[in-house]
Amino acid sequence: MLEKRHPIPVAEAIARIMKLKGQGKTEKIHIDKAYGRVLGEDLTAKHDVPPFDRSPYDGFAIRAEDTSGASSSQPVSLKVIEEIGAGSVASKVPGENEAIRIMTGAALPKGCDAVVMLELVQEKEENGQPYITVKRSFQPGTNLSYKGEDAKEGTVLAKKGERINPGVHALLATFGYEYLQAAVPPKVGIFATGTELLEPGDALEPGKIRNSNAHMLFAQVQRAGGEPVLLGKLPDHLETCYKAVKEASQQFDLLITTGGVSVGDFDYMPEVYEKLGAEVLFNKVAMRPGSVTTAAHKDNIVFYGLSGNPSACFTGFELFVRPVIQTRLFSEKPHLKKIQGRLSEDFAKPNPFTRFIRSKMSFEKDAVTVAPSGFNKSSAVSSLAASDCFIMLPGGTRGFQRGDLVDVLLHESSEGSQWHWN
Ligand code: AMP
Ligand code: MG
Repeated sequence: MLEKRHPIPVAEAIARIMKLKGQGKTEKIHIDKAYGRVLGEDLTAKHDVPPFDRSPYDGFAIRAEDTSGASSSQPVSLKVIEEIGAGSVASKVPGENEAIRIMTGAALPKGCDAVVMLELVQEKEENGQPYITVKRSFQPGTNLSYKGEDAKEGTVLAKKGERINPGVHALLATFGYEYLQAAVPPKVGIFATGTELLEPGDALEPGKIRNSNAHMLFAQVQRAGGEPVLLGKLPDHLETCYKAVKEASQQFDLLITTGGVSVGDFDYMPEVYEKLGAEVLFNKVAMRPGSVTTAAHKDNIVFYGLSGNPSACFTGFELFVRPVIQTRLFSEKPHLKKIQGRLSEDFAKPNPFTRFIRSKMSFEKDAVTVAPSGFNKSSAVSSLAASDCFIMLPGGTRGFQRGDLVDVLLHESSEGSQWHWN
């Protein structure tokens, strides 16, 4: 008997999932393993940067007052009493008309309040004693890099939940974070179901297709910051699917299956969830593609039954799995970033349900325009590769025209959205 399913709005489905979003975990890692990870603690300036006043140039540290009145006709001669490179500290304190030769990054010697660049002086030697001639006056503070001018001790410079980019790496090193707390990427198991499926290394056979979804999901999980594990293919056989899913549920934070969630004779996933005693959060969503997307949970694990149709599978992941992974990575904006763009072609199809069209953005005269990426069916795989966003058209509408302003969800953006795209 065909089971009757009741579609719920996309927003409601996401809200139900987000109630179960769970807690992120942290682990201690070495700085050399930090690139691309997510901070599990705020990165705080542990001291001022720079930690001391220093010279930003190769030149001479001087007492500005000694140059007052200096000009090309009345140059001032200063005695060079010491030379210091970066990493050294001057041992002498210059007195009247004395200077210290200083290299970029070296600490400003006591008693000095300005630096004259090497190119601006004439150097000479008298009886083995170096001197410089300065032909203009300098104000106190000229050419100094001040303690704390870059960052003040105690400032939070990168927040828990931020991705560690090369700049964050530099800060970790600056403040001596040899080890740091990083978010643990949620472990996501991926099963493909379907007796028709072959792997990329298999030759095509009559009636069979290659399993593209599991590999696509693997990459989607990685892009979202999770740790994907391919668990292989399951045949359309209830007992086999049940056993495999039950066993895997012990080892993962999230478990995704693709295929087998429709109402066909071999769509066993709804029965698998029932047998597992998992609570079904929804099994029909008012969206195209992917209306059969199902989510269930038991204890701490979330089960996703994504459609087998590639475009529907892709969409279900981005809407329902990504924000959970991102939340467990401490993101405060876990959803796809939403912007607005202008349709660059007519879209005449009616939208009984909210429609997510795989699309491509382009930038013209500072405005974002968006166009559907081609073959637009839930079974489409070719248009996915050419997409960098979804056009989101509300349910109950039709007849969008070229030039209309529409909502656009970005697949890749370092900044996500909070939940505000109703
Ligand atoms: P299902 O959701 O199992 O009814 O499958 C819907 C459609 O998606 C069918 O045409 C399947 O052959 C296809 N399909 C299912 N799983 C995959 C997969 N892993 N990769 C590519 N296509 C798939
Ligand atoms: Mg199937």
